[in-house]
Amino acid sequence: MVQNLWDKAKAAGLSGLDELVYRSNLIGADRRVCNWGGGNTSAKMTVRDFRGREIEVMFVKGSGSDLATARASSFTGLRMEDIRPLFEREDMTDEEMVAYLAHCMIDAKHPRASIETLLHAFLPFRHVDHTHPDAIISICCADNGREVAREIFGDRFVWVPYIRPGFRLSKMIAQGVLANPKAELVLMEKHGLVTWGDTAEECYARTIRVIQEAEAYIEARVDEAKLFGGRKFEPLPADVRRRLAAEVMPLVRGAVSAEGRRMILSFDDGEDVLRFVCGRDSERLSQIGAACPDHLVHTKVKPLFVDWTPDEGDAEGLKRKLREGIAAYKEQYKAYFERNKNEGDVMFEPAPRVILVPGLGMINTGKSLAMARVSGALYHRAIAVMRGATALGNFVSLSENEAYNVEYWPLELYKLTLAPPEAEFSRQVALITGGAGGIGSATARRLAAEGAHVVLADLNLEGARKVADEINGKYGEGRALAVRMDVTDEEAVRAAFREAALYYGGVDILVNNAGLATSSPIEETTLQEWNLNMNVLGTGYFLAAREAFILMKEQGIGGSMVFIASKNAVYAGKNASAYSAAKALEAHLARCIATEGGPYGIRVNTILPDAVLQGSQIWNSRWREERAAAYGIKPEELEEYYRKRTTLLVNVFPEDIAEGVAFFASSRAAKTTGCMLTVDGGVPAAFAR
Ligand code: ZN
Repeated sequence: MVQNLWDKAKAAGLSGLDELVYRSNLIGADRRVCNWGGGNTSAKMTVRDFRGREIEVMFVKGSGSDLATARASSFTGLRMEDIRPLFEREDMTDEEMVAYLAHCMIDAKHPRASIETLLHAFLPFRHVDHTHPDAIISICCADNGREVAREIFGDRFVWVPYIRPGFRLSKMIAQGVLANPKAELVLMEKHGLVTWGDTAEECYARTIRVIQEAEAYIEARVDEAKLFGGRKFEPLPADVRRRLAAEVMPLVRGAVSAEGRRMILSFDDGEDVLRFVCGRDSERLSQIGAACPDHLVHTKVKPLFVDWTPDEGDAEGLKRKLREGIAAYKEQYKAYFERNKNEGDVMFEPAPRVILVPGLGMINTGKSLAMARVSGALYHRAIAVMRGATALGNFVSLSENEAYNVEYWPLELYKLTLAPPEAEFSRQVALITGGAGGIGSATARRLAAEGAHVVLADLNLEGARKVADEINGKYGEGRALAVRMDVTDEEAVRAAFREAALYYGGVDILVNNAGLATSSPIEETTLQEWNLNMNVLGTGYFLAAREAFILMKEQGIGGSMVFIASKNAVYAGKNASAYSAAKALEAHLARCIATEGGPYGIRVNTILPDAVLQGSQIWNSRWREERAAAYGIKPEELEEYYRKRTTLLVNVFPEDIAEGVAFFASSRAAKTTGCMLTVDGGVPAAFAR
């Protein structure tokens, strides 16, 4: 049951726009009240304009923000004196309305007014909430919704039929309310709720109370045993679900990423999702259509419901069903586009955003993990609406053409053209071994700065988490994941790739970087020391590269591997035979994999750094003392020694290596594979030939 979260003490000191922000955040805090990015709130008040005159202004949440996180800057201030005359008009196109509202803004820096702005302006109340609550949409999407509403709300409500948001809907709502003096709420068919009050607290309280009334009525009628037609399948056990999902997600990622636009995936096996995907009627229900215009922009009109009988041993069968299902979905989407397109429309990618698998859960797709999760969050809302609507009567949705005209709304399309171009590594996932160390963390930062999602794999999970937290803090939740990986352990490497596949759907870039170094003359090199170098640098690079290769091939959308080798891969490092030989192994391994990867668009290149001391775990170890001894200098003289050794008289930093990785991984190196790049300040003895 949704709760009234109003805190009198907190609200006491607030007024005007601050109070509106507080109320908006409370509404957004519960997704059953208001879904992500949807809904808007307003308050009308008197303020002083730039010349000191007192004017009546309506602050209303503008376009492009979410109520949960809205701040004062998310609201648009509009002069009511300019808006009021609009009520006399018969109609107005979206473009006219947006242009008109732009003239009413009290500050050009405010966000663009939303398409639902006039709904707030035309209602003669100081405070107005427009939300998309699950329980209300359940009523608004039930075929007997109006009768249900009468039973719950008596004559306190106004019902408006579905039309697309805009001038006419706003006017229809206001006329309905003016015609019914007892009205306390408006139910918008297949859309949502409008409520109001004289004070912010009263407005909020009414929003919550109305939802509670609807919830109580619905819950009294939900029969859990009969929900979604009763249970057809039992969910698979949790560990089986995760294993299967990790196994099939790379294939799904490849199938939905066609035409060069990669997608990031998320997996969700929440209780309500499992309940839904295991229901007898769920496939039919899922294909009826979207419950609310706000849902379908992120979920598409319909999800893909995969025709599969849960069986933990049938990963191959599930893969086949997914492949066929996604292909069929794309064909259906193209046909839907052809049936409904208006002049000038250009089709979006035809792949599903929501994939439902009986017994397993839901896979969502998006251009980032955050957007995949938004798609998932909105489908949770859709499930809640279907649960409620089917408890009341039959679930009805927007018609196909209504849905199409929301999905391909010219104003929304225009918004997309304003979005900045995508970054080099957006929609890509980079897995970096040794991600907690100097070069590893610098590479993660570099790739993340250009849009990549990064997986920091390291023996030192704490260290990897620190870097991941830093990246998530800077670029948003979900942009980095820390996983524990011992590169010498075959099963541990596999497990880390599975974790990446489950979290993001796959991997596009592998940076083979985890390493160590030892130094000793050949006759003092123990077998243990030799094996250590071979295990970490040789076997470790092999295992990570093999796993990445398998995964990239399964995705079928190419990939890039960058090996961090060393100057010593081509230069005979004195007193470091084990290390240098292992580094040469890496460089040649990269070239061999490059020849096998070519046909699949998998590129493999190698960086040859030298003497990157900063932030390196290697250089904090005995290696520093050993190298200094080998050159006959003191450990603290190493930086200067190395600088002087280079042709350019420079030290080499982790960021310099990261720059090389970024180049090889990027589209700028799309035609380069099997290549080595020195990043060493110029060491003539190591010039590659
Ligand atoms: Zn709305």
